[in-house]
Parts: sequence; C-alpha cells; structure tokens
Amino acid sequence: IKRLAVLTSGGDAPGMNACIRAIVLTASACNIEVIGFKHGFNGLLEQEYQTLHAMHVDNIIQRGGTILKSARCPALQQANGPAEAADALKQLDIDALIVIGGDGSFRGAMAISNFYDGQLIGVPGTIDNDVDGTDRTIGFATAIDTALDAIDKIRDTADAFERIFLVELMGRHSGYISLAAGIAGGAEQIICPEFGQLNPDNLRPIIKPIQHAQLLKGKSSYLIVVAENSYPGGATSLAEALTKAIGIECRACILGHIQRGGSPVGADRILATKLGAFAVEQLMHGATLVMAGEVNGEACLYPLAKTGDKAKAIDPFLVRWQQQIGSY
Ligand code: ATP
Repeated sequence: IKRLAVLTSGGDAPGMNACIRAIVLTASACNIEVIGFKHGFNGLLEQEYQTLHAMHVDNIIQRGGTILKSARCPALQQANGPAEAADALKQLDIDALIVIGGDGSFRGAMAISNFYDGQLIGVPGTIDNDVDGTDRTIGFATAIDTALDAIDKIRDTADAFERIFLVELMGRHSGYISLAAGIAGGAEQIICPEFGQLNPDNLRPIIKPIQHAQLLKGKSSYLIVVAENSYPGGATSLAEALTKAIGIECRACILGHIQRGGSPVGADRILATKLGAFAVEQLMHGATLVMAGEVNGEACLYPLAKTGDKAKAIDPFLVRWQQQIGSY
C-alpha cells in the first residue's frame, strides 16, 4: 500500500480523532501516505481532502468530534453514487480506504466495493455500540459517562423537589446507552427496545412500579431512563401521559446531542488507538471488506457485510437484574 484514505461518517463519536491519529502515525511509520476526506463520503464524492502528516494529528487525541468532520451523505445512496465514489478513489490512486463510522457507513463502503478494486476496511465509531463483531464501539464509553453525569445532576434536583424525572437518551434502535447509563445511574426504571415494546395505550407496567415505590418510605426521587424512539412523541409525551395517569408531576429531560460531544474517556482513546493501528496493519496484510473490532480484549476482523445483520444483544444479565428489581 502506498496511499490510503480515511474518512469519518455518520454520527460523530468521541475518540474518532484518536483513531485518525493512530491511523496516520501507524501509516507514517510504514511510509504510507494518508489522505483524509472531509465531511464523510461527501468529501470522497467531491474530492475534498487533505494530506495528513503526523503534525496534523498532534494534540488531537483528547478532542471530541472529528478533525475530518462527519456527515450523512444521501448522494452515496443514489443509484450512481457508489460508482462515482469508486472513480474518485481510482483517480486519486488510493489503494485502501478506512471508514470510521457505524453500520450505515459500512453499508456505504460495501456499496462502493462493487466498483472498486482497492481494499476497504471499517473501524466502528459510534456512541450507540450497535455494531456486530465488536464488544465496544469507539465513543460508547464516553457517551455513558456523559449521560451519567447528567443523570447524577438530575437525580439531585429530582431528590430536592421529590419529583419523577424521565431522562431520554440516544441509541436510535438500541438500548445500549440507556441500559449502561441507567444501571450506573441507579435508575428506578429503564425503558428501551430490548425490554419489550411499550404499548402507549397501556402504561400499567410503568405506573405499577412507581406506585409501589411511593408506598416505600424515604424514597424521594424516581428516575426513569428512556431510550429515544421508545414512545410516540418521546419522553416529553410520556411524562405528560404519566402525570395525567398518576397525578404526580413527571418531568422530562432530553439529553440529545450533549451525548455525542466531549473529550473521549481513557477507554475510548485506547480502543480508538488500538483499532486504528490494527486496521492499518491488517490492510498491509491484505485484509479487505472487514471491520477492525475488539472481542474479549483482542483485536479481530469481522466481515463488513455482517456488521449490521442482527441487533447486538445488550447484557442479558443486567436486563434480567433490572427487571427483577423493577418494583423496588
Ligand atoms: P450512526 O449510527 O452513529 O449515526 P452510521 O454510520 O450508522 O452511524 P448512517 O446515517 O446510518 O450512520 O450512515 C451514514 C452514511 O452511510 C449515510 O449517510 C450514507 O452516505 C451511507 N450509507 C448508509 N447506507 C447506505 C447504503 N445502503 N448504500 C450506500 N450508502 C449508504
């Protein structure tokens, strides 16, 4: 490999910069030139890029976001998008492309592979942790801590005012962040897709544990962590419905994009460095159409085409435990 390219795509995640840094430093040490496309696949289609030397990745390991910027790219999903992207790679003499993103971005890479002879490798970078073939994605650990920081603060005000609070967390169709932050924050209830579909016309399963908790003395705050897309209209509508049903004021707090920002925690910096360096090494060994992931602490490769196949299961032990204590 003489020249490789890297891009960050989909939702940005803390640690993407650490990953770019590892890729550039590893490649530089092996005399491979690196270019970075800007704004995800858009930069590839529009040939908006910059050459990345070691000095460009200096002092970025601790920065959130991505120096290459990230974006969705509807143009790649147009009929001729993948072929155009492959042409751009050929014109720029790129031997290999590294895509840092989620399973959607990997689908984009797979689409390009139909027209491209070079190597393609994915690195899982998304706060959602919803990618098969790796135990953790880059950004997940930081997102949990960010959510947790907010949950702890909301707990203080919930406690002072003796209110019920609903905290809505990100995760699209996955309860990873909600389960992890809910467990770590001592949430009284966690509502996420993996706990079974919530029926908007029957809020009994949520109300019953609240009423039970009210009977217990000394319980002055009650926190419900709700994964986004769990209820029509989100946590705000659910809080209104609950207020009406139980006659106690329920407040909603939507954390939103705060969860994507911030300096990556140590675990994300280490994972990002390991997977970025591993991706470059594996490219040099000829790997293609795979994702560089980590399973049981070991870096490993997983077919790119299978990364979004099935919903990666959240920890069944914690799910069972949370349901067991659900009415304390
Ligand atoms: P996150 O879940 O963290 O937001 P993601 O990588 O899953 O990350 P998506 O928005 O699903 O994010 O996908 C990112 C981009 O990947 C899309 O904007 C599009 O350019 C490309 N992409 C996704 N699916 C396809 C597809 N089937 N064909 C071509 N390109 C695709």
